[in-house]
Amino acid sequence: MPSLPCKLGGTYDIEDQKKHHREMGRLGNGVKKKENDMEEKIRQVAQWIIHAKRTVIFGGAGLSTESGIPDFRSPGGVWDRYDPEDFYFQKFIASEASREKYWQMATEMFEPMKKAQPNPAHLAIAELERLGKLDCVITQNIDGLHHKAGNSEERIIELHGTAMHVTCLNCKKRYDRDEIQERLRKGTKIPYCDDCGGPLKPATISFGQSMPEKETQEAYHRSSTCDLFIVIGSSLVVQPAASMPLVAKRNGAKLVIINRDPTPYDEMADIVIHSQAGSTMSNILKYVKQEFR
Ligand SMILES: [Zn+2]
Repeated sequence: MPSLPCKLGGTYDIEDQKKHHREMGRLGNGVKKKENDMEEKIRQVAQWIIHAKRTVIFGGAGLSTESGIPDFRSPGGVWDRYDPEDFYFQKFIASEASREKYWQMATEMFEPMKKAQPNPAHLAIAELERLGKLDCVITQNIDGLHHKAGNSEERIIELHGTAMHVTCLNCKKRYDRDEIQERLRKGTKIPYCDDCGGPLKPATISFGQSMPEKETQEAYHRSSTCDLFIVIGSSLVVQPAASMPLVAKRNGAKLVIINRDPTPYDEMADIVIHSQAGSTMSNILKYVKQEFR
């Protein structure tokens, strides 16, 4: 596993970053200059996309929050009401009581996901695929919004699985999530497989569950062979996903980070844009499309 960049470039301190940005803001003659800088960065990213042979996009929770899906780790999220300890994979396997509790929480988390619609960032990523400018999108999200936006199945790598399907832990049979939620709505407390009677679980990666081998390998492979790696809406702290920008950068790719807040990788990125995913991506797309007219 690649080491973290803090080992390469000293200790990362978020307060230092903020101070640095405040100072830069004062030195930068205010808002107008900042807007010009932003415009310039957006044009540059668009140019890189146009000329890249392989662009990989890496999406995190920030992409989904703009579609109204709560970041489950933030205050007021489900972890304030449930104890994460109760949802370890090993517990799910071990007892019926845990499975019942798991499905209660999973149902609560699924509701906003089911209703959510792709935002301008998802739509821009789908459009990049149609323009032939996307190698793949690697996502930490489980909400299926890249599918809804129109990206094709083979270009989406879901590192943490998907909440849109359910799998039998015994025979691996796949079910549509809606079908299983309907059973729960009608009173089933713990759903079991029709074929083998094994326990059913949303096709997401739970705490204590190993990362999906095929997807993880594929994500590392794509990261190491791309020439442009764009992070959108990820704070880049959850491993092993967070080491992928490093893999890309070490293999010579340009690294772009679009995230509201600073990340531990900002220092090594070629361009950092601290802004919303949706507006930034639609502006980038606008410039890319001008070239394709
Ligand atoms: Zn089964």
